[in-house]
Amino acid sequence: MDYVETSGGKWELVIGLEIHAQIISNSKLFSSAPTRFGAAPNENVSFVDAALPGVLPVINSFCVDQAIKTGLGLNGCINLVSSFDRKNYFYPDLPQGYQISQYKHPLVSGGYVEIEKADGSRRKINLERIHMEQDAGKSIHDQSATKSFIDLNRAGVGLMEIVTKPDMRSAEETSVFLRKLRSILRYLGACDGNMEEGSMRADLNISLRRPGGELGIRAEIKNVNSIKFLAAAVAFETARQIEILESGGKVDQETRLFDSATGETRPMRSKEDAQDYRYFPEPDLPPLVLDPARVEAIRRTIPELPDAKAERLRRDYDLSHYDAAVIASEKEIADYYEESLKHANADDKDMAKTLSNWLLGDLFALLNKHGKSIVDSHISPKNLAELISLIKTDVISGKMAKDVLEIMWENRRRPADVVEEKGWRQITSSDEIEAVLRKVLEEHMDKVAEYRGGKEKLFGFFIGQAMQKTQGKANPATLNEILRKLLNE
Ligand code: ADP
Ligand code: MG
Repeated sequence: MDYVETSGGKWELVIGLEIHAQIISNSKLFSSAPTRFGAAPNENVSFVDAALPGVLPVINSFCVDQAIKTGLGLNGCINLVSSFDRKNYFYPDLPQGYQISQYKHPLVSGGYVEIEKADGSRRKINLERIHMEQDAGKSIHDQSATKSFIDLNRAGVGLMEIVTKPDMRSAEETSVFLRKLRSILRYLGACDGNMEEGSMRADLNISLRRPGGELGIRAEIKNVNSIKFLAAAVAFETARQIEILESGGKVDQETRLFDSATGETRPMRSKEDAQDYRYFPEPDLPPLVLDPARVEAIRRTIPELPDAKAERLRRDYDLSHYDAAVIASEKEIADYYEESLKHANADDKDMAKTLSNWLLGDLFALLNKHGKSIVDSHISPKNLAELISLIKTDVISGKMAKDVLEIMWENRRRPADVVEEKGWRQITSSDEIEAVLRKVLEEHMDKVAEYRGGKEKLFGFFIGQAMQKTQGKANPATLNEILRKLLNE
């Protein structure tokens, strides 16, 4: 167990998350306005989103399918009858004056996400529920000294609110959970998980208690808009609450705002109760009743998810536990790997392993160096597979392949073309290599004597000389073998 220890004793951290995930859909949850990101302000606004009198919401059936798919992908129970409620509050960018949400009867109950921590231990993080609701618009305060602007493009966009049980016990567990959840949502194609653009937002509920004791009073932290900031927010909040508790005080149940510039949280408002929102059943929408056949049809569309994929990569290709997990952790990486396998001889386990090594090693290093993600790689999956084939068929050595890869990145050419152009074909002919080696030994008779006298580390010197004479093109294995033979003559 992860405990926080101070001079005042041990504390256990308790964290629950409320995640707002924007549903991938061309139109909004209750209107036909488009959802395209980056449109001009107020371009994507229908009469419904602007809450003009006399308009009525109509549920977007695709959004419902997306939420069902998410519920199934997260092991939840799909409620065949759910319903919408009005959550009343004022926001300048919420024209209705209320948000249509699901309160008493959510679409999904329960569910869980299995996480794996750095030490290899696994845990289930349970979910309370998943419900659908509308997003609000945006108020913009930094474009004028005297005016605020309102952009309603986001108003009415469909969200899934995913609520966890208070099951996380450390910042690490929380960030591993968020990464895993984001990965699953992307695999499902239900949410793009882009925290920077705000299409996935997490509110952090934190409290502390004595190990195994009763749950403490929590604070809710808003605005933690990247996984990177999460650890800072948790650390600050843990220290703040422990200080209050150890001096005999009580933590206020309040909503706090995280400031990424200072790494601190500060009070935003005292915690509102459900009754403050005056929830009541949404009169403009009938209950959402699902045909079980619809749920089953959606279940069949669920793709292979990260855990299953990692398991299959381990089983089919003998990939290490870690490598398989990294490849499966992001859909784009897995897609790249599987695409390149198609161009390689995928039945060859050794090929699959070498591909994985080059992907996670050299290609990842290049991506890092150029600040690119895998989808922007200058090296296509097919070209990577071809490069590995050139190594496997002894056309080039692994060492030469590193240089070829660099050039492939620069000019996006096929590896065979690069090798041809540079005249980088590996010398594999034993006769040719033996001739070079004989020459090297002749030129360094003194060193040969020293070697035979026991100075064995000169072996590397001869290899170096031979490599120089062949511009690094001699096949290393053959070179080693023949040199050993000649020296033992
Ligand atoms: P709301 O914030 O809307 O009032 P809930 O009471 O259902 O809703 O809780 C919301 C979140 O807070 C959930 O993720 C839950 O796991 C978490 N939570 C509840 N109690 C605690 C607690 N004592 N410490 C930490 N997290 C908590
Ligand atoms: Mg809340």
